[in-house]
Amino acid sequence: MNQPTTCPQCGGSFAARTVTHQQPWGDELYEFENVPALVCLQCEEVWLSAEVAQLIESVIKRHPQPKRYHQVPVFSLAEFSL
Ligand SMILES: [Zn+2]
Repeated sequence: MNQPTTCPQCGGSFAARTVTHQQPWGDELYEFENVPALVCLQCEEVWLSAEVAQLIESVIKRHPQPKRYHQVPVFSLAEFSL
């Protein structure tokens, strides 16, 4: 597994963290808590390993009962002006 040791965005160093990750999937947005990730200490870029990304994908495809739901309001910015 070749995990990056420095951030590809800013060259800062990565630290192992547990994050909340939002995964767009079709028209839906799935949220995962307690996701092991590398987070850049400078720009907060989040990097997920291929294994974690694969696990997220397989959970979405298995459709288990979610822990809970968020309601997300959706707006079209084209309907608004400054
Ligand atoms: Zn960075």
